Amino acid sequence: MSATPRLFVDDDLSDGASLDLSDEHARYLNQVLRKKLGDPVRVFNGRDGEFEARVENFSKHGGSLTCEHRTREQTTSPDLHLLFAPLKRQRTDLVVEKATELGASVILPVFTARTNADTVRTDRLRAICIEAAEQTERLEIPQVGEPLTLDKALDNWPQDRRLIFADESGDDGAAPWGGATGRAAPILEALTPFKDKQSRWAILIGPEGGFSPDERSTLRTLPFVTSVSLGPRILRAESAALAAMAVWQSVLGDWRG
Ligand code: SAH
Repeated sequence: MSATPRLFVDDDLSDGASLDLSDEHARYLNQVLRKKLGDPVRVFNGRDGEFEARVENFSKHGGSLTCEHRTREQTTSPDLHLLFAPLKRQRTDLVVEKATELGASVILPVFTARTNADTVRTDRLRAICIEAAEQTERLEIPQVGEPLTLDKALDNWPQDRRLIFADESGDDGAAPWGGATGRAAPILEALTPFKDKQSRWAILIGPEGGFSPDERSTLRTLPFVTSVSLGPRILRAESAALAAMAVWQSVLGDWRG
């Protein structure tokens, strides 16, 4: 891993461009990393690839960099949305950080019947995405969507995007976890037939209390939904999100050769 710091900036990037450093970035480079004038820094903005830049100056509240040359061309992550029911703050933060590492293109909090959290700070989630993207060598930042209810998300669903519904339950209401009947197919088996056929995807993960029976039966009947099992153990919501994304990346995403 390169020791050259990597920063996300808003400005357009080109050879010779001068970039103003925010107060926060300047403090980080100057006081935390003890960078000096002329030291290299890598910058990206989600549009123009990655550039090597040099520290031009530090001032009282900021400073500037000069862009030298492009080190990487812009690429995009696969078209994978993650819809998840907001959890307690730290767990939500974890989902967002790891979804960025795992290459989600959109992260969308959805309120379901059993969601406990009632607010989501999208500005905070966006900041987490930026930090994770800086560390993970990603060239773009996942988009954090405005939270909405599951009903609304499903009502406005684009028919050409398949939705992977992570469903741990069976159909027997009297048995623990719904017993063995009516379980969704294992995720690998469920996704393999879509190899090379479908490019727009989303994954839906429920809250700690799971989906309500109504939500579950609605999801199961929608034509754009593929229900999947993530194995015989009940995972915490954040583990389920990461596990489903990892399998998706391996079968349909950019972890393939
Ligand atoms: N039904 C549970 C557990 C919910 S776990 C309860 O009532 O407490 C939180 C979410 O993670 C679920 O809604 C589901 O989307 C996902 N999940 C967890 N384990 C899973 C598994 N083995 N297979 C599929 N999805 C799973």
